[in-house]
Amino acid sequence: MVSGKLILFDIDGTLMDAGGAGGRSLTDAFYELFSIKDAFKNIRFDGKTDLRIFKEGLKYHKLTDGNGVIASIREQYLSRLRLEINTDKKHIKPGIAALIEGLRGKNRIGLLTGNLRVGAEIKLLSVGLWQHFEGGAFGDAHEDRNRLLPIAVEDFYKNTGVRFSFSQCVIIGDTPKDVDVGKAHGAFTIAVATGPYTSPELADAGADAVLNDLSDTNAVLALIDGGTIAGN
Ligand SMILES: [Mg+2]
Repeated sequence: MVSGKLILFDIDGTLMDAGGAGGRSLTDAFYELFSIKDAFKNIRFDGKTDLRIFKEGLKYHKLTDGNGVIASIREQYLSRLRLEINTDKKHIKPGIAALIEGLRGKNRIGLLTGNLRVGAEIKLLSVGLWQHFEGGAFGDAHEDRNRLLPIAVEDFYKNTGVRFSFSQCVIIGDTPKDVDVGKAHGAFTIAVATGPYTSPELADAGADAVLNDLSDTNAVLALIDGGTIAGN
């Protein structure tokens, strides 16, 4: 059996804050394609895959998701994102650089995110983090985030030749949906309150551990090392 663990990070609200670039890009894409202003005013993004968000937007405005419309949204969204990401408001969340450094050697790191693969690359390149991740699962692989953990493990194996079991995976994310995908497969989940949810809300979602942020590197590494699923 492989030693160490595969740590799978969420992006928005966990590794970084894109300063609203994603939301603005998608809002612009809907205006460009359908002449709808503020199309996502009443739709929450957090923890959902991009594909699901696109479909919720279409459904809310009574538009079809057939006839190549998803591909058009995707293309518009990504071209807007390449511009919008140049915002001064984007930033890396506290402790991320030190945590990535601390994980080096013993553990491996990847991504489990609702972002499209290209969108993830645009966002993480903008803050200098993209090169640290050896594989993962992205929002274009499946609309349902709960399906992304097996895809992440497989992608990591394809890229590195190393296969981790689900129980060797640790999910780090900022929403109940990050917790759900870990729980669906028996992975250890660390929820962090640096996104839209509070610590009590994340504890209610059933996270194995909840932290206010990831700034205490030793505490996070100890959790990862000793991580056993709550109730076991
Ligand atoms: Mg997130």
